Amino acid sequence: MGSGAEHGESELHGALRAALGDVTVLAEPAAMEPYRRDRALDPDAGVPLAVVLPESTADVQAVMRWASAHGVPVTPRGSGTGLSGGATAVEGGIVLGTERMRAIRIDVDTRMAVVQPGLLNAEVKAAAAAHGLWYPPDPASFEICSIGGNAATNAGGLCCVKYGVTADYVLGAEVVLADGRAVALGGPRLKDVAGLSMLALFVGSEGTLGVITELTLRLLPAPPPARTVVAWFGSTERAAGAVVAIASRVRPSMLEYMDRLSVNAVEDVLGMGLRRDAAALVVARSDDQHPDGAEIAAMLRAFADHGALEAFEAEPAAGERFAQARRMAIPAVERLGPLLMEDVGVPLPMLADLITGVEAIAAARGVAIAFIAHAGDGNTHPLIVDDPGDPGHAARARLAYGEVMELAIRLGGTITGEHGVGRLKRPWLVDQIGEDLLGISRRVKRALDPDGILNPGVIFEADDGPA
Ligand SMILES: Cc1cc2nc3c(=O)[nH]c(=O)nc-3n(C[C@H](O)[C@H](O)[C@H](O)COP(=O)(O)OP(=O)(O)OC[C@H]3O[C@@H](n4cnc5c(N)ncnc54)[C@H](O)[C@@H]3O)c2cc1C
Repeated sequence: MGSGAEHGESELHGALRAALGDVTVLAEPAAMEPYRRDRALDPDAGVPLAVVLPESTADVQAVMRWASAHGVPVTPRGSGTGLSGGATAVEGGIVLGTERMRAIRIDVDTRMAVVQPGLLNAEVKAAAAAHGLWYPPDPASFEICSIGGNAATNAGGLCCVKYGVTADYVLGAEVVLADGRAVALGGPRLKDVAGLSMLALFVGSEGTLGVITELTLRLLPAPPPARTVVAWFGSTERAAGAVVAIASRVRPSMLEYMDRLSVNAVEDVLGMGLRRDAAALVVARSDDQHPDGAEIAAMLRAFADHGALEAFEAEPAAGERFAQARRMAIPAVERLGPLLMEDVGVPLPMLADLITGVEAIAAARGVAIAFIAHAGDGNTHPLIVDDPGDPGHAARARLAYGEVMELAIRLGGTITGEHGVGRLKRPWLVDQIGEDLLGISRRVKRALDPDGILNPGVIFEADDGPA
């Protein structure tokens, strides 16, 4: 706990510190600044009353009891790498950061990990690897995002095309509700159908239903070695065709896509000799252990059938550099200007239509859109690059942002495949799921958080009308 004598502290701060005992409370504007926004840099972030850094479930319960009693909003926060404004601070609210909740226990016999939410994804992977085990979900941000944030957003990643998303590995969660009660959902059981699937409801709920204070994660045996194939294309449509052909014939353990703008942005940073002239790059991996190498051969055949300019198997070290290039894409494109980041997904056969549709939107609105994708999942990230020096650009970029989501919905897709609705995509949610389902979702939210103190403005309007 801070000294209690910090600059500008109010009676409310004093009451909060008194209620929380030893829990760290930050109230200085400068100390709170890094906790106000996630990586989407929401311009509407508020100045919170305080940032609290609990270490235990009991600490989180104390925070929620106090917030509930005083009607103070709470924004749960992991590492703040979210891309949808899900961890945007609310004016006068509490930001509840999990960075000090870092315990982990690996149970080799049951191949499970029990973790507190503040551990980074990479730290969970490393702890599992120390026992010859593997935690598969691998968001490109895995070195900087928290495992609690991953569960709260149901994060995906590069290997998810074969190994599934975070929800596929969450067997149990302990969650602190808005009123401070702690409940256990699921647990260390591979099969369990007792009651409604409340665990599934909380995974991906973006901090709107409760604070995740512990996770029980399924682990796999250590991953098999993988081979990497790479192809350059002169046309984005051909690249998309090759992706669909590969995904329909074999089970790649990675199937990623980058367009010319994103390749050039990465090449500017890494200087690894990427082709600046090609329209698109596809990076695919196979960890199939069959000695005939048929999966790799099928991938190379699909590249050739779809007119690749160049396709080859990369040596292991070069293959890792191509995967690294893909992981670098968002930070590299961020150097071009402020971004509006999309996360739209479509059924795989619609991938080419989505790519060409986004290209048409970019041309019509006069904005640059870099296009990267977990292509094998049909989950894409058109990155709209704002140009602050061009008057009117921000408005056109904003129009394009909505049009990309509307296009995805028309193609039978989703406005968000893995980053979550957050605040920034909320206006388009109803267009995808409809009023009936949104109404049911609001009723669930109200049942669990009647005063609407958990992450108001995320997924749901802060002051949503009657259900
Ligand atoms: C370079 C880059 C690459 C990325 N690549 C991917 C990718 O490949 N796949 C992918 O899925 N995402 C990706 N992301 C997005 C981001 O890393 C993920 O959404 C990640 O899961 C967020 O984790 P976090 O700890 O940073 O959460 P935060 O940003 O802190 O929070 C995210 C959301 O979860 C809620 N939350 C956080 N912790 C808890 C908790 N303990 N209990 C309840 N709610 C909580 C927050 O309120 C918020 O709504 C990328 C981001 C960057 C910057």
